[in-house]
Amino acid sequence: MRPEPTLADLPLRPELVGEEPYGAPQLDVPVCLNVNENPYPPSSATLDEMAEAIRAAAYHRYPDREFVALRQLLADYLGHALGVENVWAANGSNEVMTHVLGAFGGPGRRVLTFTPTYSMYPEYARNTHTEYVTVPRRADYTLDAGLVLDAIAAHDPSVVLVTTPNNPTGTTTPLAVLEEVLAGTDAIVVVDEAYQEFSRTPQDTALTLLPRFGNLVVSRTMSKAFAFAGGRLGYLAAAPAVVDACRIVRLPYHLSAQTQAVASVALRHADEMLARVADLRAARDDLATRAAAAGYEVVESDANFVLVGRWADRHRAWQQLLDQGVLVRETGPEGFLRVSAGTPEEMEAFHAALARVDAPRMGE
Ligand SMILES: *Cc1c(COP(=O)(O)O)cnc(C)c1O
Repeated sequence: MRPEPTLADLPLRPELVGEEPYGAPQLDVPVCLNVNENPYPPSSATLDEMAEAIRAAAYHRYPDREFVALRQLLADYLGHALGVENVWAANGSNEVMTHVLGAFGGPGRRVLTFTPTYSMYPEYARNTHTEYVTVPRRADYTLDAGLVLDAIAAHDPSVVLVTTPNNPTGTTTPLAVLEEVLAGTDAIVVVDEAYQEFSRTPQDTALTLLPRFGNLVVSRTMSKAFAFAGGRLGYLAAAPAVVDACRIVRLPYHLSAQTQAVASVALRHADEMLARVADLRAARDDLATRAAAAGYEVVESDANFVLVGRWADRHRAWQQLLDQGVLVRETGPEGFLRVSAGTPEEMEAFHAALARVDAPRMGE
């Protein structure tokens, strides 16, 4: 073999041939509204406490493999009478989902999702050798129990993924729908609530269904509302047996001493970390109202982003925004761009840039 082989020279798994690494362009531009981050950093007092916690952690020893203290803080944050045994976490919900599919998916098994939805799900499926099957949402991007249960009957998945509020549409699936689905299947039903804190009804969480359904997994993350995307901490709540299954497939010591230390500080300051959520909800609603007033189509969103469109060539619109220093995401249904809610200054920059976009809309 040549000393510096190309990928084609290596015995790569056949299903990885031609694949590209994920995904969203990371560009150094003034206004980043592309990955649904919370734009408000923690206070310097909290950052000092994080630095102290890093200083105090032990680095010559392995960290607590079961990260019991952190799981207790996560359980306390979630409430609903959850304990350490109900909570699992990893480096972002990306890794949590990989644990769930590693335990409950695998060769010969299927995971079912409802499109349009989160673009990472097919990658978790591929990496865990789980077949990925999708069924379209209704025309308004909602789900009803009949649609989900029919899809389960048709595809017999071992894992079903329902994202609410959904990314990239922002659509909520009502609790009554989830309840009917859970009553009608023994598959693992993962409800991905990555954006739940931004919902108009955050108290309507699938956590309330956990006491009744042992096959329910509620997935959360500190990356969005919690303003901790760089800290990499995702987690789930479920029956203790689900947590035990994740413990089988995780790599030992997957959460480093510094991740455990810093995430614990963030959770002890949950009120401060979440303080801007109300501002971001208002920014989302204002973004939708202003874009609609400017003649754009928007999709009603319960998350911290809004789909704005529709362009005949959305890539051209995306480029025109980028040329003005505003990065949004080229994703979702045809003709739409997804715009994250930002600070008032970022929102002004977006609307000013949008006013100068002249890419033709659909039907123009
Ligand atoms: C952003 C997002 C996540 C969170 O991913 P992390 O790995 O925790 O940063 C999970 N699910 C959905 C649908 C998301 O949009």
